[in-house]
Amino acid sequence: MSNRKPIIAGNWKMFKTVSEAVSFFSEIKGKAEVDGVESVICAPFTTLPALVEAAKGTSIAIGAQNVHFEDNGAFTGEISGVMLKDLGVKYVIIGHSERRAYFAESDEIVNKKVHASFKNGLLPIVCVGEKLEEREAGQTKDVCKVQTEAAFQGVSAAQAAEVVIAYEPIWAIGTGKSSTSEDAQDVIGYIRGVVAGLYDQATADAVRIQYGGSVKPNNVAEYMGQTDIDGALVGGASLEPASYIALVEGA
Ligand code: PEP
Repeated sequence: MSNRKPIIAGNWKMFKTVSEAVSFFSEIKGKAEVDGVESVICAPFTTLPALVEAAKGTSIAIGAQNVHFEDNGAFTGEISGVMLKDLGVKYVIIGHSERRAYFAESDEIVNKKVHASFKNGLLPIVCVGEKLEEREAGQTKDVCKVQTEAAFQGVSAAQAAEVVIAYEPIWAIGTGKSSTSEDAQDVIGYIRGVVAGLYDQATADAVRIQYGGSVKPNNVAEYMGQTDIDGALVGGASLEPASYIALVEGA
């Protein structure tokens, strides 16, 4: 039995206006709050001030979906860790496959963003995972190893223990095709071993690793039943209040 606190994080992606976000929050308040489970909403930048305000006095944490690696500068359209910390944001998703694919986010950039998060007192949720062709070529574990090692480069053991890793096979994101819980456990157990290799077993045992990819209220418990799976990063099923509440209850 590990001491790791299960963590359910909703990734809203590019959905919800401020009024929609506030209305969602009023519906989950007091419900998506379960003892022993951490509940996090990762929302669009524009909704973060209102959500941080709404979350005051609750146990629900608010996260961003991206951060720039510099604190400030001539980076038109970007948002820094200084700005997110100032808002009261706690978590930030880094290296989501959509950012890697559509915004050219490399392993090196992911690593810089992890450092920028810690520098500004934010906790990173680092996404790793293989493409379908990589899975079919038997490269799943190699891909996850390379991405994990790159993300943790130069990160101290104390910081590493606070990182949340989200293992998200890309072919399972938003497709309705989820990895079996046994397959997810196999890869996540392997990723924990990679962290142990980088640091030590105690650090690896502290790191929380989520599964992500078409997690729904009806399959979340199955993933949570696996030894090394500490939670879920959820896109589509986190957008409706009732579904999000069920995910937190199911964890
Ligand atoms: C995600 O956005 O990280 C994700 C896993 O999406 P979905 O749950 O919709 O597959």
